[in-house]
Amino acid sequence: MLDSSNAASSTLPPRYKTKQILVGNVAIGGDAPISVQSMTFTKTKDIQATKEQLDRLALAGADIVRVAVSDLKDAHALKDLRAISPLPLVADIHFRYEYALIAAESVDCIRINPGNIGSKEKIKAVAEACNARNLPIRIGVNGGSLEKQFDEKYGATPKGMVESALYNIKLLEDFGFTNLKVSLKASDVERTMAAYRMLRPLVEYPFHLGVTEAGTMFHSTIKSSMALGGLLMEGIGDTMRCSITGELEQEIALARAILRYSGRQKQGITIISCPTCGRIQADLVSMVKEVEKRLSHITTPLQVSVMGCAVNALGEAKHADIAIAFGHKSGMIIKEGEVLRKLPESKLLESFVAEVEQMAQERSGTE
Ligand code: SF4
Repeated sequence: MLDSSNAASSTLPPRYKTKQILVGNVAIGGDAPISVQSMTFTKTKDIQATKEQLDRLALAGADIVRVAVSDLKDAHALKDLRAISPLPLVADIHFRYEYALIAAESVDCIRINPGNIGSKEKIKAVAEACNARNLPIRIGVNGGSLEKQFDEKYGATPKGMVESALYNIKLLEDFGFTNLKVSLKASDVERTMAAYRMLRPLVEYPFHLGVTEAGTMFHSTIKSSMALGGLLMEGIGDTMRCSITGELEQEIALARAILRYSGRQKQGITIISCPTCGRIQADLVSMVKEVEKRLSHITTPLQVSVMGCAVNALGEAKHADIAIAFGHKSGMIIKEGEVLRKLPESKLLESFVAEVEQMAQERSGTE
């Protein structure tokens, strides 16, 4: 079913109406904002190192963080970690149901595929442990590690991924457990999109979007923008992770940008900058990077334009909240379509940043 209340832009189709679940204090699905997740890459039992990454992610604007539980020491570290974590924690567990039972005592969500943990008694025990604390479970289907029966019948296809998801969902539903979210990750755009699209009309559970092993910043930006951005624009997706072989902060920045450019969330600065040409009057590449860096803390939605000369500046500025346009060793700041002031180049950046910060404060009252 589609929910017309969620579209951030009138030209977008509404988001699919999904069941709402809670991961800690973060609502996922229903009319909740689409949340952004990431995953630490420390050994979870190294509490200090993991805490540092959790803090970095909180500062970067993540909503939820997943940690790997690879052995008993990781599982037992979760209690202490949860006590000091600034964000809700998801325990990522494969095969070992006993780790899930330990994790269920302290974390906010468990990612485990019940089809991988063996007998019905073990699945029941995990469902009961999660139910006792109202913890959701993420069923995380991965195209590269389908259960044997689906891999043999369908291979790593969208159909195989969807059948695996339905099978895992049913294993939990058989015990009355419906506090679920689902992911269907493949390492390429086409299968990822096809799998999510195929499953969407079949279940009401919220979807965690992601492309698995998406690669470096360059490759992940393209894959995640196409797959996650495309799905979001179709109304599919309730929470997301952009996987990047790189820095944690990059994952969050990319996810937030995809949300912004797909029209599903209005948050933060959108920068419009010209491609430069022979008329350029300044080192625009460095200047845009600096503007982007200096304004990255702002969450108020603002359109900011940075132009290399005055030729298109006034026209572009009409579509921006605030703009900067360079002249010969000078430039002007244009606010809401009107020239605010002209300054020598050496004073332009500081003045512009201060002006944008003030504008954000005026509009939100909170920056
Ligand atoms: S704004 Fe000026 S420098 Fe930039 S592309 Fe247009 S004409 Fe060239």
